[in-house]
Amino acid sequence: MIDALKGKTILIGKEPGQGRLLIAIKGAPKVTTLGQIGSVPNSVSRCKPAEGVAHCQIEIDQTGNMTLTNMKAQNVTYVNGFEIMSKRIDSTSTIMLGKDRFGVNVMEILNAAQQILIAIGGSRSGNNGPGSVGGAGGAGIQPGGPYSIKHLKDVWDDYSASLKKIKIRQKHIGLLSSIPIAFTMLGTIIIGVAPEIRPFAIVFTGIALIVMLIGLYLRFTDKSIEETEKLNEKFQDRYVCPNPKCHHFLGNQPYKILRQNKICSYCKCQLTEE
Ligand SMILES: [Zn+2]
Repeated sequence: MIDALKGKTILIGKEPGQGRLLIAIKGAPKVTTLGQIGSVPNSVSRCKPAEGVAHCQIEIDQTGNMTLTNMKAQNVTYVNGFEIMSKRIDSTSTIMLGKDRFGVNVMEILNAAQQILIAIGGSRSGNNGPGSVGGAGGAGIQPGGPYSIKHLKDVWDDYSASLKKIKIRQKHIGLLSSIPIAFTMLGTIIIGVAPEIRPFAIVFTGIALIVMLIGLYLRFTDKSIEETEKLNEKFQDRYVCPNPKCHHFLGNQPYKILRQNKICSYCKCQLTEE
């Protein structure tokens, strides 16, 4: 337990709108979220820090003891499989929220809360350099690592190659639809300047019509949008922080950039290419 979190109360609940897990510290001006958009089920109550509303809260006393409290009578909160109203927990406790038993990792919540403190400049315990925030006794929050990101190169390459393929296909369909215009214009010019070769004009107009129909067909049967969506979904599941305690989507940053940063911007763990 880092000293900066002592005496703090962490509010936990569903993020209004985006549906991620919202983590807030009572009285702090910033909040953070965990997981992907829409990942938290509706049985988890919303967290509105400004109103002091949440699904549950973790109170941390001055000695670092943590108490989890269910905040609404219509909620359910479980600790290690048992429904609770208020219960002492530690960093290894299993917390589940709502009747869908949405599981949350205590360490992940503490890490997130710590990130809030860092963001607002409230953490004064990080005097051991970046990534080392283990405090006096109790559960030290070690982002740890380094974790290998080697496998993410293929994930990124796959993703960008597939995305490129889809974009090129869309471009070709776009180009195809400009061909009929050219043929139609050609036909019009022939009729205007050389009426004696009129049959050619009819042929050109016929070609224009056929290409236009092909273009329309391709446009109607094109699944680029659905494919892109699926691709993004798969990518967001795979392009995640290798730290098993984090697994946060690393964002649409190219592998090249990831390799340069060498750090997960969510859990601050070290990343390596080894
Ligand atoms: Zn991470």
